[in-house]
Amino acid sequence: MSKEELDPEVVADLRLRAYSEKDSSRSRGEGAYDWKPAPTVTQWKCRVPACKTFVDVTPDAVESWEMFNRELARRDERPVASHEVMWCASCAEMHAGAQSQRLRKMADRMADVIRQIKAGDKVIRWRSSSGEHAGDENEAFAALKRWGHPDIEGFKQAIGDKRNTTPSKRERRGGL
Ligand SMILES: [Zn+2]
Repeated sequence: MSKEELDPEVVADLRLRAYSEKDSSRSRGEGAYDWKPAPTVTQWKCRVPACKTFVDVTPDAVESWEMFNRELARRDERPVASHEVMWCASCAEMHAGAQSQRLRKMADRMADVIRQIKAGDKVIRWRSSSGEHAGDENEAFAALKRWGHPDIEGFKQAIGDKRNTTPSKRERRGGL
């Protein structure tokens, strides 16, 4: 049966049904903010060499990986292989744990150097992955900056201010 043969009333009814179907789908939350779980297109090995569990990969992930590699190629850098990208769930969890442990260690190391600078130590010592280090205050400030201290200039300023006020107080007291 062609459209032309349809009774106008039937057409009107079909239109109404199509409209109400659309409407009811909107109320099911499939309107403007439609969401579906990302389909997986392939599987890549977990990036931990000892693990190699296969991990589902979404088209979005493949696309970002390709984009990233195109950028690396543009900079004459080695592209990232597909088995160097994904973490499986358990390795991801372990990695996150190791990372927060690294951050904690870094924070401890910074705090220790800051304490020595505040104490006015002439030689400041710290330990890093490459071994024991010792340096003067400027080297310690440089190290803090390398480790990601958010406000080295502010810290230097605060130390300087403290040193400028403390001895003068002492002198005053001594003079009395
Ligand atoms: Zn894994």
